[in-house]
Amino acid sequence: MDTVDNNCIFCAIVAKRASAEIVYESAGALAFMDIHPIVPGHVLVIPKKHFRNLFDFDDASAQELMRVERVVARALRSAFEADGLTVLQSNERAGGQSVFHYHAHLVPRFFSDGLLTRPEQLHGAQKRVGDGWGRAEIVERIRAQIKDQ
Ligand code: AMP
Ligand code: ZN
Repeated sequence: MDTVDNNCIFCAIVAKRASAEIVYESAGALAFMDIHPIVPGHVLVIPKKHFRNLFDFDDASAQELMRVERVVARALRSAFEADGLTVLQSNERAGGQSVFHYHAHLVPRFFSDGLLTRPEQLHGAQKRVGDGWGRAEIVERIRAQIKDQ
């Protein structure tokens, strides 16, 4: 797989061909401000290599990414005296992804921010999960696929 996609805005930011408000940079990852922040301090963390999303990541990049997420998470908590932090990461259009270079959103959170907190609050998902599926069948389907990886 190519590690750079010439049509990708985040690859352009990595290559410094496009501007960004970079807050942290390491050999393998980059953290910069989201251009349309949900709250002040909304940061994106990306691998420098071009991976479309979680489906085609490699272990070394994942390890470095998680290290940088932790560095930035602690910095955000201190900088804004945040009560917490939500990590959002979307895969493919159906999953809400709009930029197709892996990125994790780090969103500082406050008891007073009024944003959704629990995964089941997403799009009323609570009501739909399990429609037509037995719980045991769901678990078995996932385990069967993981065995091969
Ligand atoms: P997603 O919907 O999870 O793919 O999120 C893409 C995010 O990238 C959105 O929150 C955008 O505001 C953000 N974004 C898009 N282009 C840029 C850019 N050039 N610099 C910073 N953030 C960007
Ligand atoms: Zn890219």
